[in-house]
Amino acid sequence: MPLFGKTKKNHVNTPPPVLEDVPAQDFALKLSYAAKSSESVRIKAGPAAVARLARMLDGYVQGEPELVEPYPVELGHAAPFIARMPGAAEWLTYHRKRLPVTRHALEVLEAVDAVDLAFDTLVGGLLDGELDTSGYPEYNAIIGGVASHWDEMTGDMIVRAVVGWGGRGVRGDTDRNASRLLAGLFGNIQADRHSLGVVSVERPVTGTKTDGVVCAHCGFNSGHLRAFYCPKCGMRMARS
Ligand SMILES: [Zn+2]
Repeated sequence: MPLFGKTKKNHVNTPPPVLEDVPAQDFALKLSYAAKSSESVRIKAGPAAVARLARMLDGYVQGEPELVEPYPVELGHAAPFIARMPGAAEWLTYHRKRLPVTRHALEVLEAVDAVDLAFDTLVGGLLDGELDTSGYPEYNAIIGGVASHWDEMTGDMIVRAVVGWGGRGVRGDTDRNASRLLAGLFGNIQADRHSLGVVSVERPVTGTKTDGVVCAHCGFNSGHLRAFYCPKCGMRMARS
């Protein structure tokens, strides 16, 4: 009998009543990501400014921290959401060679919008907890470090501490441990000898094709029309 062929029987019988409930087997995966960010500290720009970021993790990072520079313009849609293209492909293109712990940190911190690699530079690593045999953090691990961008008005470096955690579960004391680590990293940032103190700075925004100021050095399009410095690369914005 053909699979989709109509039989005489279908025409004569009334359809069966629709059931509200059928026996079903349930499936679920509960993922939970969280992050904390400190206040921002203004750091005087200068040679090796970015290199100093790694030292701000001293005493808190386990193993080597990794430096993650902002996305190049051609990977502008990169995002850690696996079913969304082309963002997922761009994300993997840019991050595929990183340490597993760094990729995990980026997935958590970008997913909750605690860092924005359109302009942020991140130096991060494992701060607390265990890695599995493949080098990926367990759900109770805490990752993080420092994130920075360049002040669009002064060209100074704007640095803040960020910590994050999450996955298939939560632990009762994670939030408290994360706060302690955030405070420690924030202290390290303030202790930098080029620190100019805590500052409140508007988060950079991305401009549109028609209204933005485009950086001639890295292609970042700033929506702050009075931006004198590029938040992504720190170079002077060229005026046309
Ligand atoms: Zn730039």
